[in-house]
Amino acid sequence: MRPSRTFRHGGIRVEGDFDWEQRGPAQNAFLPNGAVILLKQHSGKQARCVVRRGEYVREGMVIGRADGPFSANVHSSVPGVVRDIRISPLPEGGRAEAVVVALEGAFDRLGRRGERYLWKSMGRNEILSTLRDRGVVDTEAPGLPLFDLLSERQETGILIINAVECEPYLRAEAHLLADKSPELMEGISIIRKILSPKRTVIATTRSEDSSLPPPSDDGPDVELVRLEARYPQDMPRQLLEAVDGSRKFSPDDAVILRPSTVFAAYEAIVLARPMVERYVSVSGGALKRPAVLKVRIGTPIGDLIEECGGFLGPPARLVLGGVLRGHSVHDLDAPITKTTSAVIALDSEEVGSLLRSPCIRCGRCAEVCPERLDPDILFRLVKRGLRLRALELGLGYCTVCGACGYVCPSRVPLVASFAAESHSLGEAPR
Ligand code: SF4
Ligand code: SF4
Repeated sequence: MRPSRTFRHGGIRVEGDFDWEQRGPAQNAFLPNGAVILLKQHSGKQARCVVRRGEYVREGMVIGRADGPFSANVHSSVPGVVRDIRISPLPEGGRAEAVVVALEGAFDRLGRRGERYLWKSMGRNEILSTLRDRGVVDTEAPGLPLFDLLSERQETGILIINAVECEPYLRAEAHLLADKSPELMEGISIIRKILSPKRTVIATTRSEDSSLPPPSDDGPDVELVRLEARYPQDMPRQLLEAVDGSRKFSPDDAVILRPSTVFAAYEAIVLARPMVERYVSVSGGALKRPAVLKVRIGTPIGDLIEECGGFLGPPARLVLGGVLRGHSVHDLDAPITKTTSAVIALDSEEVGSLLRSPCIRCGRCAEVCPERLDPDILFRLVKRGLRLRALELGLGYCTVCGACGYVCPSRVPLVASFAAESHSLGEAPR
């Protein structure tokens, strides 16, 4: 493996050497007594509910049907009875219908060794429609359905498997890489069959990932590239810049997927299993026993916190996803979705002083911005309602990565303001 590489401009090293005591594979989390399964866990319209209150559902049965482009099928993660269908808040804001399934009856798949499907005879279109039927979405928010993400991409330049975790509380992708490397290699072969990429790379920041199995004659031709754990190394532009130093491939010529997405594709195609489970890091200084768990979609986060020994004291902040780009939650009933990589309970020391003070013009935010923006100036323009001027100065290129807010000594709400602007502009941050 070549020495660590990274992107050129800005970036930060996120402080905190979180002590992951867990050794060995991720354990299955306890099954939820009541799974709260959101019908919107993907980028498009919420899925159309196809079950009724009181109906019995099997594990893996469709409970929500995709409703148009970028929508995805949603399956029941547990067998049981539909106890309620209600409107629930989404972690990223907004609301959607959720089906509450009370655990009951027998599991069709749990603990059973399923048949392996001999997928190599499947055509590209058959693989894509199977991924669509089984509700497989990109595990990175906003959860683009894999069918929509990959179907127009043929003869891709580069496929990057993004195992980069450059924050101390995130560990789920690394665990997956260690636990399931043969399955991931097969998943990569499936994705390669769809995309026919010229180059395939697994990008990682951890030395232990070099224990991945070497490419075999009948396996995919994959390079392992170690990158520096500098934030936001996991974001698309910074990842491509570090992996493809010669700038051979443009962003339009690259497909970037998390190992967890590839694993979901493997399970859908090889084991005929819909997307009903994912690896989740449950961590933070306010938690007794941090762990990476295999969790059923719809499990309330309170169940996971209890399974990790509960809180050491009242948490100062609960976050879903990483501390820099994640969403704060206030409700322990909030459920795990297909795009929830982590549940983080921070103590007051980790959160630091929340008191804001005026900007001291120290310039640190501009130094670390990987998009070469001046967050301090953009913030002042946005605050004064001068959005057009802010756009002229590059606001539209802000990826809401959070690096500027992380280093700001005055805790100026830079990122919240840029996130609100990109939301009201009606476009995803580029
Ligand atoms: S949030 Fe936007 S302005 Fe701040 S560092 Fe990231 S890209 Fe730059
Ligand atoms: S880092 Fe904070 S205090 Fe420093 S210039 Fe930027 S906004 Fe102002």
